[in-house]
Amino acid sequence: MPIFEYHCPDCRTDFEELRTLAKRDDIAVCPNCKSRRTERKVSTFSASGFGNSGGSSCVPGGGFT
Ligand SMILES: [Zn+2]
Repeated sequence: MPIFEYHCPDCRTDFEELRTLAKRDDIAVCPNCKSRRTERKVSTFSASGFGNSGGSSCVPGGGFT
């Protein structure tokens, strides 16, 4: 099971959650302030599974709101 990284903008805490791919976009509750308004960070792990022809590991992220 992969580990996903999340960020809590309320208290600016980064934390990790162990969960399945299907649940990666589920709400992650901040362990510090219990906020549910967290956002998932783009992890290099999840990006490595799609196509190796690009040659670049640069993953655009953060564009979604
Ligand atoms: Zn927090």
